[in-house]
Amino acid sequence: MSLQMINGVIANRSIATHCPLCGRRFKGIESNAEHIFPKWLQRHHQLWTRRLTIPNFLGKSYKSVTVTVCARCNACFGQLENVLSKAVRTADAFEACAELPDEVIALWLGKIFWLLCQKSHSVQDYKTRTAPTPKQILAEELMPGIAYLGVFERAFANKKSMLSCYLTDPPFPEFYDPPYSLYRFKIADIEQYEKFDYLDNPIVLGAAMRTGNVGVVCLFDGGLHRRFRSHRFANLFTQTLHPMQFSEVAARILFDYTVLHEQAAQVTYYWNPDRRAVIAKTLTPRFYDPYLQANFDPKLLAQFIGRFTQSDPETLLMEDGVFTALWDENGDFLPYAVTPDEIEAARSNPNRSIIGPIHSKWRTAPPKE
Ligand SMILES: [Zn+2]
Repeated sequence: MSLQMINGVIANRSIATHCPLCGRRFKGIESNAEHIFPKWLQRHHQLWTRRLTIPNFLGKSYKSVTVTVCARCNACFGQLENVLSKAVRTADAFEACAELPDEVIALWLGKIFWLLCQKSHSVQDYKTRTAPTPKQILAEELMPGIAYLGVFERAFANKKSMLSCYLTDPPFPEFYDPPYSLYRFKIADIEQYEKFDYLDNPIVLGAAMRTGNVGVVCLFDGGLHRRFRSHRFANLFTQTLHPMQFSEVAARILFDYTVLHEQAAQVTYYWNPDRRAVIAKTLTPRFYDPYLQANFDPKLLAQFIGRFTQSDPETLLMEDGVFTALWDENGDFLPYAVTPDEIEAARSNPNRSIIGPIHSKWRTAPPKE
């Protein structure tokens, strides 16, 4: 039964005929079009007429991005939605979200990301429309990697769960890990910046969302990042980040996937009937750090940061590395220059350059009427 569920995700059935969450056929069951970015979130941030900035949906308005989901999934994921919507719309969303388990946030953000992937896989890329074999926006080759997230969401939709383990682990699922690395950041309220942003990258299977004063970054990576890389970001967890800094940290966390040992990106799925859980085994040993310095490409890092901060990657490449607005030369947290005085002070400090409204086309909030 549940190997069937895993195979169902990997089979990657059309969202025109099958529910993208639970995998059931639509024929004979109730289903409805649903906004991928929930309506309450769009209302909360006045996103109706705004346009997405993520590559697959560049220029599309938030309100137009819908997908058909079965009624049972609507109800099942609706429970997550209720909890999340309450927390996110609290004045201090960071505090309110602190009460929520990681699993709830990962499932919710993952659902948006998964549905966006499914949606963009289902439509043709207009640039190839006249080609002999038109391509989907999200290429077929990427789908097996994205299935990891699909299995996570599908397990939940079928009232099951998913756990991650490593190549050398003994068969004791009680010690296994959540299949994701989730980070939360506190974000400063800067008046001229939009209060909402969504970023993702299907290749590294990571997504980030900033809403009000909370920012969340999640990689669906079997928990590898959390295990081996979270210490690199530890001194940011207690700080309040500028929205630009959040975009940079999201880019850096997602980029880390690109330095992984090849085998750490591979996985074998099992079904564990006792735990009613899918076990996803990462094909590296538990005590081996698979993040390889030899794979580090500063140009690629500059591209990641450039895309998320809407800056020119060329301006981010320094002689001795890649520009950061997060840490000073000692590795300590660097408060972001916001006021004219702070920007002036940052400019006159030779150890510190700034990105932001000055050097990039960073989106700012529309002027208040
Ligand atoms: Zn469903």
